[in-house]
Amino acid sequence: MERRHFLRYLGIGAAGAGLSACGQESSTAASCEETKQTEFEWKMVTTWPKNFPGLGTAAEFLAQQINEMSNGRLTIKVYGAGEIVPAFESFDAVVGGTAEMGHGSAYYWKGKNPAFQFFSTVPFGMTANEMNAWLYHGGGMELWQRAYEPFGVEPMPAGNTGVQMGGWFNKEINSLDDLKGLKMRIPGLGGEVLRMAGGTPVNVPGGDLFMSLKNGVIDATEWVGPYNDLAFGLHGAAQYYYSPGWHEPGTTLECIVNKEAMAELPADLQSIVRNAAKVTNANMMLEYVAKNNDALDVLINKHGVDVRSFPDDVIERLRELSDKVVAEVAENDEFSREIYDSYLSFSNKSKAWYQLSEQAYLNLR
Ligand code: CA
Repeated sequence: MERRHFLRYLGIGAAGAGLSACGQESSTAASCEETKQTEFEWKMVTTWPKNFPGLGTAAEFLAQQINEMSNGRLTIKVYGAGEIVPAFESFDAVVGGTAEMGHGSAYYWKGKNPAFQFFSTVPFGMTANEMNAWLYHGGGMELWQRAYEPFGVEPMPAGNTGVQMGGWFNKEINSLDDLKGLKMRIPGLGGEVLRMAGGTPVNVPGGDLFMSLKNGVIDATEWVGPYNDLAFGLHGAAQYYYSPGWHEPGTTLECIVNKEAMAELPADLQSIVRNAAKVTNANMMLEYVAKNNDALDVLINKHGVDVRSFPDDVIERLRELSDKVVAEVAENDEFSREIYDSYLSFSNKSKAWYQLSEQAYLNLR
């Protein structure tokens, strides 16, 4: 019997609807007195190889924060992709309660609802700062919670990669025609844009990328950026490294928690979980800024990587296709339209302000 089920069986960890010892009536948090001394052990499944730099380590950082903040009352064991379930089955593992928690990104679950992709990243969409502003202060979180509600899972932002790189190619990309027939690992809506451009998007878990590219199973791949791409040695499998990651301008990673498991926690531990996710969200973004700088230097100056920029007209065409692909998601259903409208309206306002602030400054420095 799983520990929390065992505790529930004993009536210890059950969600209390009565008056707790803290003097507050709560229907969602287990009572304070009963659970103050209870220790909880959770499993976290992830879509990353165990301890993979930046991504896997963000999951470990999250677990460590929760452990420290709770003084060991909630401990979380992190599992890499494939240890309990394969990478792309981790959402279902949390839904079903095999694991109480997961770390991944919403676009991996687009098969459940294409609108989930707005909570990861959108081609030519918002940057990390803008995403966080939308999620935390622009209504994004409420929509995200509603989107996962039918699955009994609570989402939280728990990391961001910043602007990614455009990917690794073994031929030059001089026109949109060069994408025709290209079998490329590229997830989410960016993949649909590639399909519209005549290519074939495939989704391969990170851990299989190097061999897939090296053996010609795929022609090209994007992964994240210098920090992560160097860790997989992708420069050893492709000739050109293209900038920028038009398809992933600020990808949000998520922490998902099984809502039943969450309800068994006392209120202070629930708050710790949510705040640890927030700390992880900020920490990962800053780590990527620092580590990408160093890794880019190594890729160029040690490994002689040929860094290219996509030509302007290719970017222009990709932008047109992206607008279509993103708008199509809104056609899915009424709720998808609501998410799209919220995202787009926030993004447009942010563009106006950023043009006068971040963008104006970056252009002149
Ligand atoms: Ca990527």
